[in-house]
Amino acid sequence: MIHFLNLKKLNQPFETAFEKKMKQFLEGGWYILGNEVKQFETDFATYCRTKHCTGVGNGLDALVLIFKAYVHLGKLNKGDEVIVPANTYIASILAVLQADLVPVLVEPRLETFNINPEEIEAKITSKTKAILPVHLYGQLAEMKAINEIAQKHNLLVIEDAAQAHGSQFSENEKAGNLSHAAGFSFYPGKNLGALGDAGAITTNDDALAEVLFSMRNYGSKVKYENEIIGVNSRLDELQAAFLNIKLKQLDSENEFRRSMAKRYLSEIKNDKIIMPSWDLSQNHVFHLFVIRTSNRTDLQNYLNENGIETMIHYPIPPHKQKAMECWNLLEFPITEKIHNEVLSIPLNSGLKASEIQHIITTLNNY
Ligand SMILES: *Cc1c(COP(=O)(O)O)cnc(C)c1O
Repeated sequence: MIHFLNLKKLNQPFETAFEKKMKQFLEGGWYILGNEVKQFETDFATYCRTKHCTGVGNGLDALVLIFKAYVHLGKLNKGDEVIVPANTYIASILAVLQADLVPVLVEPRLETFNINPEEIEAKITSKTKAILPVHLYGQLAEMKAINEIAQKHNLLVIEDAAQAHGSQFSENEKAGNLSHAAGFSFYPGKNLGALGDAGAITTNDDALAEVLFSMRNYGSKVKYENEIIGVNSRLDELQAAFLNIKLKQLDSENEFRRSMAKRYLSEIKNDKIIMPSWDLSQNHVFHLFVIRTSNRTDLQNYLNENGIETMIHYPIPPHKQKAMECWNLLEFPITEKIHNEVLSIPLNSGLKASEIQHIITTLNNY
């Protein structure tokens, strides 16, 4: 069976380095907010070409804390509306809700799965104060158009970059520096994945970074002195140590993913399958390779019978979730079509050449 994602295998090349680091960690005896976190924050800010990076507990908290910090700074207020893509992973929406803000859903483009800038302005009201584009599946959202709309209406832009580490328009225009602030997740399955939960925020906004730095740690910069109402969401020292090792390989991981995606795009030819659209530039890091088909159950069963595990990202759109009952009667036809048709096929650096060939041949024979 070709598994969709074998994390043990993906982390195998790092095992010796992890073990060495673990030994140092035990000898050092410093477990919370130490040098590994500081190192990661410095290196990840450099990597993203931002002034600041704040390590936090996970990707959801990264987004929640950005919103809460902007509320603290008075740039957002309780009840303000935040525009989000209707087909995003639920975390983007939960982040808005957790900061007492109101998510407003906007349809994506069917071709790119990313928020359609042409649909945004119709949803802007006097209460709209921010846009949260999501670089879904690893492909950058249309940030130029989004930032123009934001400027015109004086809105904040916050990137959900949880799936897009290293995705770039150019060397200096990368996921994480295309907006006021960005949230990253290092959940184990992400392109840069820890061995547990971890997240970070990048920004060029000095005032925001200062608030975030203490907000993630009980609102405290000096121990037992609480300046603001904070939370406990620190990047774990040991996870930071693992991430410091893996960050060095992120570009080559992304390059491998892009080259594999290029193979899929040029070699998979089947009228029953719609391939993802991509301009072959570096604006995509293929966190997921997502195809569409009108008879998904049939294709998924066929692939399974041929030893290929697939996943659906995501089977139920946020507005149809039980947790979002107040939205259940809303209609988003493009979003619903996407959720009915998408299927993610294996794409990662743990796959062998023979496995990649088997995936291509099997899809062509469908
Ligand atoms: C993974 C993910 C998150 C949340 O990250 P966690 O680390 O799991 O909290 C947020 N948004 C998107 C789009 C994600 O894929």
